[in-house]
Amino acid sequence: MPKKARAAVVPEPNADLEIREYEIPELVSGSALLKVANVGVCGTDVHLWHGKLSGVPYPLILGHEVVGTIAEVGPTEVTNIDGDTIKKGDRVVFHDVTKTCYSCWHCLIAKNPTKCPNREVYGITRNPEKWPHLLGGYAEYVYLTPGTHIVKLPNHVSFDGASALGCAMPTAVHTVNRSPMKFGKNVVVQGAGPVGLMITILASISGASTIVSIDQAENRLKLAKKFGATHTLDLSATSLEERIQFTRNVTQDHGPDIVYEATGNPLAIREGILLVREGGAYSICGQYTDGGDVEINPHLMNRKHLDVRTVWGSETKHLYEAIRVLSSHYDRFPFEELVTHTFSLDEAQEALETQERRESVKAVIKPWD
Ligand SMILES: [Zn+2]
Ligand SMILES: [Zn+2]
Repeated sequence: MPKKARAAVVPEPNADLEIREYEIPELVSGSALLKVANVGVCGTDVHLWHGKLSGVPYPLILGHEVVGTIAEVGPTEVTNIDGDTIKKGDRVVFHDVTKTCYSCWHCLIAKNPTKCPNREVYGITRNPEKWPHLLGGYAEYVYLTPGTHIVKLPNHVSFDGASALGCAMPTAVHTVNRSPMKFGKNVVVQGAGPVGLMITILASISGASTIVSIDQAENRLKLAKKFGATHTLDLSATSLEERIQFTRNVTQDHGPDIVYEATGNPLAIREGILLVREGGAYSICGQYTDGGDVEINPHLMNRKHLDVRTVWGSETKHLYEAIRVLSSHYDRFPFEELVTHTFSLDEAQEALETQERRESVKAVIKPWD
């Protein structure tokens, strides 16, 4: 059992990351120690670094998209979601959300466990000043507290392949599950970042008839083609009128059945409402941080008879299904290509800045490199 672990810590909002060393506490019953192979650098990490999410303790060890190898298991058996015993050497991922109570009003009555007020999230809400300290992925080890939901990685899936999913794929699974996706549907995906690309994959394997991916980054549009988009539209090279016309041209002049928003830009909402067909569905999952107000026309939404849905967070089942999709379609889509940048733990600051400049599709930190 290792004694200490290095971690990259945000001392306070907007301050440069520091490397700190923590004692690894003894493993209690039900816990396990994970040796981190990769931790994904997420857009949310940049927002956390800037102190933009409420209820977050600082100092903070970032990192909620963690894959790695079990280094040690506590004194009692630990099992994964399938009920298999977790052993030293197993390659695993875990759901970043833990402590969903399944006994509050949100969990039991409203059936919205992603709104459970008791939830804690590795790398976001868990305070490293308290036991057992190592609760974020920008570290050599993560202490998996009792009750953490663990999923084993299939042998044919590499750590980079698994890191391609990040928290984007569980979000995409949740989003697509809440939408009326069926084979034969015409789909538009606004945004070809990680979430948009994962929605594109899910639309493709669900049998969508057309999938139009819209973004302004050429490299992302190229990836969208590789991940199932039938058409791409460059936001910076087309007008709104041209985009509306194009999406009508490929749908017998009806417009798309479902538009998915995965941009993070509030202006996308105005466009999405214009693009979607009459009686169609609009699924919004990209507005995770508050980008401010935009003008929309409620009459247009009403007149179009729209089905509008939004998504907040993910449940363990979405991570589980994400890994099943990855496993089944690993040969069809080049998941590993999504990991465009890798950094060491000492380069964590640079990793965040690269993500902030949107240069990377998926950046990962490899703490042992
Ligand atoms: Zn609850
Ligand atoms: Zn994330």
